[in-house]
Amino acid sequence: MSMPQPPAAPPRVPDPPARGQGADGWVGRLAFGDVPERRGPLALTLLAVLVYALFGLVTRWQVALGLMAFGDWVAWTALSLSGIFGFYLLIRLGISARLGGEPSLTLAQTAFGTASTVFGYAIDPPLRGAVIAIMMLNLVWGMFVLKQRQAQGLCVYALALLGATMVWKSTMQPALFPPRIEALHFAFAAILLTATSALSIRMGELRMRLAARKVELQDAVATIRALAQVDELTRLSNRRHVFELLKAEQARGVRSSEPLSVVLIDLDHFKAVNDRHGHAVGDAVLRGFAQALREGLRESDGAGRWGGEEFLLVLPHMTADDAASLVDRLRGVMTGRLLDRALPDLRVNFSAGISECGGGEVAQDAIARADNALYEAKRTGRGRTVVHGRGA
Ligand code: GH3
Ligand code: MG
Ligand code: MG
Repeated sequence: MSMPQPPAAPPRVPDPPARGQGADGWVGRLAFGDVPERRGPLALTLLAVLVYALFGLVTRWQVALGLMAFGDWVAWTALSLSGIFGFYLLIRLGISARLGGEPSLTLAQTAFGTASTVFGYAIDPPLRGAVIAIMMLNLVWGMFVLKQRQAQGLCVYALALLGATMVWKSTMQPALFPPRIEALHFAFAAILLTATSALSIRMGELRMRLAARKVELQDAVATIRALAQVDELTRLSNRRHVFELLKAEQARGVRSSEPLSVVLIDLDHFKAVNDRHGHAVGDAVLRGFAQALREGLRESDGAGRWGGEEFLLVLPHMTADDAASLVDRLRGVMTGRLLDRALPDLRVNFSAGISECGGGEVAQDAIARADNALYEAKRTGRGRTVVHGRGA
């Protein structure tokens, strides 16, 4: 039976696509592909390609000024650009997603960026101090994705790699890499990288909190949505939801030309139950009737509380005659059902009005005809079912 769904698995809202990517044009599709989750990482990786290309231009200027050997420039630019472009391809072609783990490859990208930057440090004695700023940029890059341990690990790795390179270069070429200057550079790098990694960790915590809030919010929305569909006493659909079910089934029925029946049920002399036994017993009777509906209906049927002691059934693929048989079975169940342990003789019957939806009918018309049929059932003695057949 169609019931309001519990909030077990709230639909996840997809992340918005990265901005400024012109993602819908052919260039955008070529650059970012069709998988929405890959767009953000691809945009960031392409930005890294651009940054490395700009570094390439600036270092080429150094070559022109005679501050760097052309061969070193080619080696560094080729290594860093081909490496970062390789990451872009791994993400774009879905290879990273297939490998498992984190599909944007942020840790690998930042580790690679660090290594290529340290390489730059080793081949660029005059501007090697500036290279430390590039290492910071690498860590900041990782802030958006890396976990606390990864950010810490990256910082230690960067310092170890830089320290080892400094020791190596100052031993091999002490004139170009004077040990005391290297020690100073290392001290600055240690302070900057540690501070950046601490910021990165803080940023990661904020990100995690934000992600947790998002999940909480989605759960809350799903819960509110489910509650807004449920009748509190009977746990059946409420009036609004069962009416929506009827409209949806009617639209489907019109498309498929399948029959669809509507049943309005009103418990007989229910006021007398309340008057004689109290409101609590009346409530138990309503819950008992709802339970009988849950047990007696199919998965595809809808049932809701239409008003106080009135219920609306939506029965797809059933003609009015099929619906009448089902209601008769239900009546049999109800008249034999124990509704309150303390009142073994308490039995409740009901009157029912049935209509079958016509293809050109709106939901309200079908309900109105079922209501007329119900009125007739009441007028002609209660405890019975009246069928008003198929509408126009
Ligand atoms: P009829 O056979 O003509 O339908 O008679 P009836 O007594 O069932 O109908 P009537 O409309 O006179 O009374 C309906 C009663 O249903 C009155 C109202 O107090 C009771 N009722 C409506 N909602 C609830 C509820 O949530 N709990 C309880 N216990 N009673 C309710
Ligand atoms: Mg009534
Ligand atoms: Mg009644």
